[in-house]
Amino acid sequence: MKAVLFQGEKVTVVEKPLPPAGRDEALIRTAMAGICSTDRELLAGYHDFAGIPGHEFVGTVVRAPARPELVGRRVIADINCGCGICTWCLAGDPRHCPERTTLGIRGRDGAFAEYLSMPLRNLHLTDESLATEEAVFAEPLAAALEVGQQVHLKSRDRVVVLGDGTLGILIALSLRLACPRLLLCGRYPEKLRVAEAQGVETRLLEPGGAPADICRELGYFGAVVEATGQADGLALAIELARPEGTVVVKTTSHEPSAISVARIVVKELTIIGSRCGDPELALSFLKNRWIDVKPLIEAIYPFAHFDEAWHHAGRRGTLKVLVSFE
Ligand SMILES: [Zn+2]
Ligand SMILES: [Zn+2]
Repeated sequence: MKAVLFQGEKVTVVEKPLPPAGRDEALIRTAMAGICSTDRELLAGYHDFAGIPGHEFVGTVVRAPARPELVGRRVIADINCGCGICTWCLAGDPRHCPERTTLGIRGRDGAFAEYLSMPLRNLHLTDESLATEEAVFAEPLAAALEVGQQVHLKSRDRVVVLGDGTLGILIALSLRLACPRLLLCGRYPEKLRVAEAQGVETRLLEPGGAPADICRELGYFGAVVEATGQADGLALAIELARPEGTVVVKTTSHEPSAISVARIVVKELTIIGSRCGDPELALSFLKNRWIDVKPLIEAIYPFAHFDEAWHHAGRRGTLKVLVSFE
């Protein structure tokens, strides 16, 4: 099969054998994959990853010895593959399994390839009403929805989401249903308009603005979600939180963040890290059309033009770039 490989700082397409699929795993033919900023962080050295990247995908099961009825079905997957026997796995949450592998991120080849393999227990069937280019959003949408699973947001809270990348917009679109006083702040008018079109209030922030000036303009928030993808986003998030407020951190930057711990102490803030979420919840949001993800698609490239897709995704101000294998 053809697969994308990260080798040092280079992205190449190579010929590889089909991924091994054990008895409790499925071999899946990739239908579509999404390029994510995490993929760029991996290339920059995050997690010391070497192998096939790609963790946002939808595909078709082609082999599943233990569950042959799945052959031919469209699936997405929970990307965290646990050992199955530790306390985290037994509690049904492999995201923190110490032995876990993560599709295209940690110890497991990913979805920028014609085929991939996943444990059967990680698979989720997609609803037939969902287009391929909608279902491919299940992973990032699950990560966006995780914020609402972790923080008890109240309808009267002022909430701000920092960052108008795909993740920031998905977070704003999912939280707006419970938090009408939500504001999305970003750098790109055309991206903010995508969220505005679905009822989100937005504000354009000029680059290089001092956090104190931004606070004077916007006021303070009970909950701040930091999804800028930038190492310095956390400092602004801490400033924007009101005393006893909550800061949810989504950015996984390869660069360390410099913050004033004293500000956290003095304001008595709660800082919450937030990673992957529940794919089944994301599928239900998509199926019920509570969020329209299609306006977030910047471009769809055939896999044969992966190189162009990768460069397009790396341009500043780009929304979701998808790669089609069909
Ligand atoms: Zn991602
Ligand atoms: Zn485990």
